[in-house]
Amino acid sequence: MPLETELVLLPSEINDKELIEKRVLNRLRLKPNELLNALVFKRRSIDARSKQPVFKLLVQAFVNETPAASIAVSEQYKDVSKSKPVIIVGAGPAGYFAALEMIELGLKPIVLERGKDARARRRDLKAIQQDGIVHPHSNYCFGEGGAGTYSDGKLYTRSKKRGSIEKTLRILVEHGANPDIMVDAHPHIGSNKLPLVVQAIRETILKYGGEIHFDAFVDDLILDSSKTERKIIGVRVNGNKEYMGEAVMLATGHSARDIFELLDRHKIRIEAKAFALGVRIEHPQELIDEIQYHQRPRHQNLPASSYSLVCQVQNRGVFSFCMCPGGLIVPASTAPGEIVVNGMSMSRRDSAFANSGMVVAVELEDLKPYSGYGELAALEFQKSVEKNMFNAGDGSQKAPAQRITDFVKGKLSSDLPKTSYIPGLFSERLDQILPNGIKSRLQAGLQQFAKQMKGYYSSEAQIVGTESRTSSPVRIPRDTETLMHPQVQGLFPCGEGAGFAGGIMSAAMDGMNVAEKIRLFVH
Ligand SMILES: Cc1cc2nc3c(=O)[nH]c(=O)nc-3n(C[C@H](O)[C@H](O)[C@H](O)COP(=O)(O)OP(=O)(O)OC[C@H]3O[C@@H](n4cnc5c(N)ncnc54)[C@H](O)[C@@H]3O)c2cc1C
Repeated sequence: MPLETELVLLPSEINDKELIEKRVLNRLRLKPNELLNALVFKRRSIDARSKQPVFKLLVQAFVNETPAASIAVSEQYKDVSKSKPVIIVGAGPAGYFAALEMIELGLKPIVLERGKDARARRRDLKAIQQDGIVHPHSNYCFGEGGAGTYSDGKLYTRSKKRGSIEKTLRILVEHGANPDIMVDAHPHIGSNKLPLVVQAIRETILKYGGEIHFDAFVDDLILDSSKTERKIIGVRVNGNKEYMGEAVMLATGHSARDIFELLDRHKIRIEAKAFALGVRIEHPQELIDEIQYHQRPRHQNLPASSYSLVCQVQNRGVFSFCMCPGGLIVPASTAPGEIVVNGMSMSRRDSAFANSGMVVAVELEDLKPYSGYGELAALEFQKSVEKNMFNAGDGSQKAPAQRITDFVKGKLSSDLPKTSYIPGLFSERLDQILPNGIKSRLQAGLQQFAKQMKGYYSSEAQIVGTESRTSSPVRIPRDTETLMHPQVQGLFPCGEGAGFAGGIMSAAMDGMNVAEKIRLFVH
């Protein structure tokens, strides 16, 4: 049995292997001549509550034994080229992890993805960033790896009950992610590394006999209505091609509005869902470091600091969302005529900016003016705010922005701070464009956060519209036991778009869980 101890280390000590070994020997009262075969770092976190930030390192020491080698997940994979086919719509984290799980379970995944492969996608991202042109099938949300590929790549999740976090992280490491993600309390991959991991996962799926088709936009469902119970037997792609399978997994993400509309047209039940909407807030990273670490500049071994804020205003949560230290704000629109922003960062998190979503919970009772849209009410509300932000601009992907102090006072900013947002910003009264319930809660929330983080409420900070794709505004229901849609045999809603995940890890784990249920259905 390995011995375990937790060390507290200064930033200047965290990379000093010799010193760490000495401390472990001392703490575990091991004599220097006792054989210390290996030290395994189990968990690394930062505690910045006191004036001097420290690392906490949980270490396992193996005395007279060596750590057991773990079996690679890929060793469980089988050749599935001749197995029963299952259609997976969407190559995001839910779709790709479901495909890997199916290979482990002996089913043949056929992945259909409306966008392009991760590499070809880059050209379309450049077109959004530099020319303001949004490709409706290839953008920050659509394409191989889904919204996860050019995302920030934060890998922590609160959904510990949903599946194996360790297995998910191991799969990522086996496909090229830095093994540190198995140790860090807040693991992060970064937008520059994610595409390589995603491409390696694709190679594994193909190697074991799965299929992946890009530029394959699923625009209809093929239903067998000959039976009393409706059953899905396949899907139509690009208006002409058909793919048939034993089951169909819908893992299309929160921005596939056409899929929600398609289900609605087929009278397959969908449900309006609460979500959250607001703005992205951007500060100089140095300012956040000074608040969090009490030092400016931060020590070179400390990562760019982050924060997480939450408060209640008029019965609704106001909270920070998807904080990206040392990151960039990116244009995440999925169609022309809308402004949507999100955040990402490179693995080194070394930009001069800290950005985060700052959003307000939207409950269904807030959407009465949209009730005419039925189950698409929340989606239509989301659309209308994104469109108003676009209409305030010049028809490009330039986004409206306001210094936060001006936003709270209700006045136009005479100028704006520097930004990481490449398409550019223009000064606008966000307090006039945002719906009243969102605006007033954000204004009050920002003033509360000023008390929680001294210096956060600063004229150096600005807000940018719109942070609206926080989660799906629609749920595609499923049976709690079979995870299948209650009205259609063989249809398995999955991941963030169906309302059962929020982030890369939970989407990946949901994909694996649904794959297991599909195996039970197919066999
Ligand atoms: C810029 C950005 C930064 C983010 N940062 C983080 C982060 O740091 N950490 C984190 O956990 N999460 C982050 N997220 C969110 C995360 O990416 C999503 O939660 C996750 O990708 C959801 O996975 P999914 O598989 O359910 O759906 P998605 O990733 O949305 O994938 C759905 C896929 O389905 C495809 N599709 C849609 N409709 C069709 C159709 N009709 N036919 C064929 N294919 C279709 C889409 O093209 C897409 O590839 C970020 C998102 C963005 C945009």
